[in-house]
Amino acid sequence: MNSQQFREAAHAAVDEIINYYETLPSRRVQSAVEPGYLAPLLPAGPPEDGEPWPSIQRDIESKIMPGLTHWQSPNFMAWFPANATYPSMLAELYSAAFTAPAFNWLCSPAVTELETVVLDWLAKILALPECYLSTGEGGGVIQGSASEAVVTVAVAARERFVKRKFGEMAEGNEKDELVGRLRAKMVGLASDQAHSCSQKAMNIAGTKFRSIPTRKENEFAMTGGDLRQAIEQCKRDGLEPYYLTVSLGATPTCAVDRFEEIAEVAQEYPDIWIHVDAAYAGAALVCEEYQHLTKAFGSFDSFDMNMHKWLLTNFDASCLFIKKRSELTSALSITPSYLRSNQYDAGLVTDYRDWQIPLGRRFRSLKIWFVMRSYGINGFKAHIRRHVKLGEMFANLIRGRGDLFEVVTPPAFALTVFTIKPRKGQKGDEKAAEVTNGFTPDAGDQDVVEANRITKEVYERVNASGEIFLTSGVVAGIYAIRVVSANERTEEKYLQKAFDILVKTAEEVLEKDKP
Ligand code: PLP
Repeated sequence: MNSQQFREAAHAAVDEIINYYETLPSRRVQSAVEPGYLAPLLPAGPPEDGEPWPSIQRDIESKIMPGLTHWQSPNFMAWFPANATYPSMLAELYSAAFTAPAFNWLCSPAVTELETVVLDWLAKILALPECYLSTGEGGGVIQGSASEAVVTVAVAARERFVKRKFGEMAEGNEKDELVGRLRAKMVGLASDQAHSCSQKAMNIAGTKFRSIPTRKENEFAMTGGDLRQAIEQCKRDGLEPYYLTVSLGATPTCAVDRFEEIAEVAQEYPDIWIHVDAAYAGAALVCEEYQHLTKAFGSFDSFDMNMHKWLLTNFDASCLFIKKRSELTSALSITPSYLRSNQYDAGLVTDYRDWQIPLGRRFRSLKIWFVMRSYGINGFKAHIRRHVKLGEMFANLIRGRGDLFEVVTPPAFALTVFTIKPRKGQKGDEKAAEVTNGFTPDAGDQDVVEANRITKEVYERVNASGEIFLTSGVVAGIYAIRVVSANERTEEKYLQKAFDILVKTAEEVLEKDKP
């Protein structure tokens, strides 16, 4: 493709993308294709000779589009959102044009230096304590995902723990044996609401994992008491707790752990690395009304939030902040001669390869920069507040039909979690108990079993319609539907439509199974 062909192709692609965005509300939100739909539509191999752009572009609508679930549709209210915006897409285009796997400062100084600047800006906007800024001993780095961030800090936590126990000891067999024995006993912790990436990180780090039970009466937050009890139990069992994930907006109900209580308990266990997983809800910290949540973060070791979930930036832009960057780099830095530079040796520059798992990295700070400049801090605040308000409006609609619905936890961060209420004496089939996927409701609680069955049926019927897309989850044995109003294009009319569909479907299911 030459420059003129690229100009024409790029214009045509941009026109098609704009048209796609403008027609999103009328598209079926969830893809309806069957597994394996694509291969029969494609030739057995790539063409012998290159094809012109128009024939490639034509296949986007005919072959790819049917297999897409439209995350940017205002009718998408599932999981957590994946915000995408035009400024951020423009940055992706430049980033692709400048392609350089910029692992070292020397590879492209602008890539490293812009990342340091915009992550310091972000730390300030999110009201993180000063210790997370690069101007002190901390700093931020862009990771591919919140899961990658947890793996990265888990390795740093493991190495810090081992070093504190045996750092002074001479290298040799005796030390290797002691370290091996210690590692076999090391355990990472997180609440039973925390995202599964914490358990996965412990598997990758080669250590054990224990989940800390939470309670509905605490809105599923981990308390200081829960943590102390878990640590003491680990010790009684001969284990060595070295890592803890605390959640700001845990996936099932957006629970927020009790940070100040946890920080107080943690003082007694200074060798445990504490990581704040704020993958989705961390975006809300741009608003003053949420910033009290960061007060205790000075007592923790790292914090991560995904701008690519709720802060207007295309996937991927997971922003990890470390309180003491040397604890990360000492675990991850390996510098063979081909990765050295005079600037690195002189200690003048950051080489982000020492802050992450891969070596090469994309120019992701560009999209954060474009987005911050296009929206401004006030644009960020308005974006979050609009969604929180829409979430409250939706939750009020749900509460207004107390005959049909029951809210499980108070709505938080634009997420509403609710169940369908069975009618008195309603009875489904004997498979009802299976819907909770092995989570057992309180013994003998037939109402919960029945509510689970009905909620699941309503949920499946609503999604099958293709008009809106929701997700469900099981919390403390309760099967619940989740509605998230944090999509960039969400408006009141779409949430009202979702509510109307839920009411109609719930009434149909309840009527069908009438006692
Ligand atoms: N943490 C929380 C609280 C999440 O909700 C999610 C995903 O939704 C993750 C971590 C994992 O995110 P990622 O896909 O960035 O690894």
